[in-house]
Amino acid sequence: MMCSDQNTIQQNLEQIRQQIHAAEQQYARHSNSVQLLAVSKTKPIEALKAAIDAGQTCFGENYVQEGIEKIHYFAQHYTEAKLEWHFIGPIQSNKTRPIAENFDWVHSVDREKVAQRLNDQRPEQARPLQVLIQVNTSGEASKSGTNQDDIFHLAELINALPNLTLRGLMSIPENVSDYPSQLRAFKQLAELNRKLNQRYPQVDTLSMGMSGDMQAAIEAGSTMVRIGTAIFGARDYHK
Ligand SMILES: *Cc1c(COP(=O)(O)O)cnc(C)c1O
Repeated sequence: MMCSDQNTIQQNLEQIRQQIHAAEQQYARHSNSVQLLAVSKTKPIEALKAAIDAGQTCFGENYVQEGIEKIHYFAQHYTEAKLEWHFIGPIQSNKTRPIAENFDWVHSVDREKVAQRLNDQRPEQARPLQVLIQVNTSGEASKSGTNQDDIFHLAELINALPNLTLRGLMSIPENVSDYPSQLRAFKQLAELNRKLNQRYPQVDTLSMGMSGDMQAAIEAGSTMVRIGTAIFGARDYHK
């Protein structure tokens, strides 16, 4: 990769951080209450290096094999960097073991079988896996995510599993571009997370907001935005 791309990644990161900071102030959020997760799926090692060199430590990956290759690479070559790896993609139940063994966080737990397997396959010596329940806020049958009615049932199971720590909710709302619709969906999720926190005090994380709807997510109370395109540029799935 050429140097100019790496400069671009650094500049993009700087710009996103400023936007997050400005949104925190605009919506009376505490400063640094919104964490930036860099979504690096499909992007090469060089792109992640540029982000790490610019101070980024938390990365989100969607594909198990690709994510694990990156985790292993940086564990070997960037031993000084304290990186945190978040699995944010759909989970097939026969792929839970490598996720349980390698990642720090999972945002996309949406059913009991997956939660149980992640717990059983988490290595003994590892810190509990930090878990978010993925919620289907739009009610579309095609989308992954737990129905709102089932959240508390799944939360109860996760809370009873010793190798998982329930931290909150995640959603990928419908792709709408008008601000009021974005805000409505995010506020709904924030309200659910508030209820979850009343029952489980360790719940402190609301993963919502991507490159196209970060502002509305922060206004509604997001504590973790997942940003890919605005940091690394458009993804090319044909490479
Ligand atoms: C790809 C992806 C993102 C990042 O989306 P951008 O629009 O590129 O910022 C965030 N969350 C999830 C779950 C994703 O799959």
